[in-house]
Amino acid sequence: MTDIKCKIIPEPQDHKFVFRQTSVKSPYFDGDDYAEVPSSKISYLCGNCDFTLAKNIHSDQIVQLLSTDQPGLNIVLQCPQCEKFNELRTNSSKI
Ligand SMILES: [Zn+2]
Repeated sequence: MTDIKCKIIPEPQDHKFVFRQTSVKSPYFDGDDYAEVPSSKISYLCGNCDFTLAKNIHSDQIVQLLSTDQPGLNIVLQCPQCEKFNELRTNSSKI
């Protein structure tokens, strides 16, 4: 499995996809249900505190979850633990 540390960014003012979750400290996305997917799994960690924002997912799954096919779409996840905003890049081919 590959771990990706997200980039910490300032709070987005006009971002289309911002997930805020500060009451429940659990990953936003958990791809365990997709165990049959043969491709490699990725976990996204908070760039500040290493909290697991999403685990066991394929980057394509996030795109599907958001019902969009825009390449390189940036999603912002607020870390439940440290409340920083993490920029989650679905275009992760250049790791
Ligand atoms: Zn954090």
